[in-house]
Amino acid sequence: MKATEAFEESLTMIDHHFTSWPFFEPRHRTIARALDAWANEHLQHGDESDVDAACRALVKLLGNSGWLKYAIGGTSFGGVTDVIDTRALCLIRETLARYSGLADFAFAMQGLGSGAISLFGTNEQKHDYLPRVGRGEAIAAFALSEPDAGSDVAAMQCAAVLDGDHYVLNGEKTWISNGGIADFYVLFARTGEAPGSRGITAFIVDATTPGFEIAERINVIAPHPLARVKLTDCRIPVSQRIGDAGQGFKVAMATLDVFRTSVAAAALGFARRAFDEAMTRSTSRQMFGHTLADFQLTQAKLADMATGIDTSALLTYRAAWLRDQGLNVTREAAMAKMTSTETAQQVIDSAVQMFGGLGVVSEQPVERLYREIRSLRIYEGATEVQKMIIARELLRAHGK
Ligand SMILES: Cc1cc2nc3c(=O)[nH]c(=O)nc-3n(C[C@H](O)[C@H](O)[C@H](O)COP(=O)(O)OP(=O)(O)OC[C@H]3O[C@@H](n4cnc5c(N)ncnc54)[C@H](O)[C@@H]3O)c2cc1C
Repeated sequence: MKATEAFEESLTMIDHHFTSWPFFEPRHRTIARALDAWANEHLQHGDESDVDAACRALVKLLGNSGWLKYAIGGTSFGGVTDVIDTRALCLIRETLARYSGLADFAFAMQGLGSGAISLFGTNEQKHDYLPRVGRGEAIAAFALSEPDAGSDVAAMQCAAVLDGDHYVLNGEKTWISNGGIADFYVLFARTGEAPGSRGITAFIVDATTPGFEIAERINVIAPHPLARVKLTDCRIPVSQRIGDAGQGFKVAMATLDVFRTSVAAAALGFARRAFDEAMTRSTSRQMFGHTLADFQLTQAKLADMATGIDTSALLTYRAAWLRDQGLNVTREAAMAKMTSTETAQQVIDSAVQMFGGLGVVSEQPVERLYREIRSLRIYEGATEVQKMIIARELLRAHGK
């Protein structure tokens, strides 16, 4: 059965399809149904051997088809809603991830890379960048991490010094997704108003700015554009600063509160795809006079996988729904990201195991998923960092 037929069938059993949960409104079901049909038609056979070219093409395709409008906020600037609809963002990432990790990446980075502008940008900045991001005409990147400041973001050293009506930036950023193909980078640098996290400011740096260069391209297990970037006496006008000086850490964390939940959704999409592959394989693979799915050991695996997927979905869409009610979701987003990424890793590993030798053959769907899920447990805050965030929020609520 094709994915769209499966989707339609599950919608008719409305009590069972997750979009019938009270977190969603009718428009979310419409988006999920339309995107599933679109993805089934457009994302099945993409050539991803040249990731830069594939990623550029996907950004264009997603822009031309109207999906990137959901990655930005502001109806005057090309967005579907004034405030990003987190549930729509998550449904889109989940659906894209089920079909193509690179399509999900292309969509997500347009949102993450421009998220600080949607949330904190001036009208002029929004006007200059968001419409092009939403049409897929400008590629965005988010540059926070440094070689010596990953989990410990507040240790960043990249510096921005005010010189008249310009800032002069010097330093390095690494692990920057879309590095090398992005047209602009939302970049965080130390401006020194206070020590640690209170002395950081957010900027928009165009890729063509003199002094900005790609120092190194980085290859990872699930290839996508990734780079270390270097800034040498890079002068940018004060008008490219996002928010107030010294507020950059807050800008970064507020952006991550939105997109962390969407990482959970992407992991959920990977897990659902692995589960579908495992169901198809286990019910057709003959062995010992039965199918693989006839054995209780297999059934136990399927039960664990399905329960993990529902747990992830509940936590993900709880966080998305709460945020759409205008509430703080730092704790809920961290719980969703941690649970969904860790669970997806287990679900995919079980699927690989059920496929036997076929599961480790290059470019088999479950082999691809096995590589694709891994970095989601590390980026936008590793699982250990999410645990620290959850505990901090719990203790704060307890008056500690
Ligand atoms: C594929 C990929 C894409 C990325 N894209 C971007 C991007 O677009 N923009 C960007 O700014 N960054 C990006 N990153 C960087 C990412 O956010 C960092 O890799 C991540 O924050 C971890 O930092 P680190 O690699 O320096 O690891 P470290 O900070 O050295 O941490 C190593 C490990 O230590 C553990 N750890 C951390 N804190 C604790 C603790 N308190 N107690 C115990 N254990 C702990 C965790 O397991 C962690 O994985 C990307 C990374 C990857 C892999």
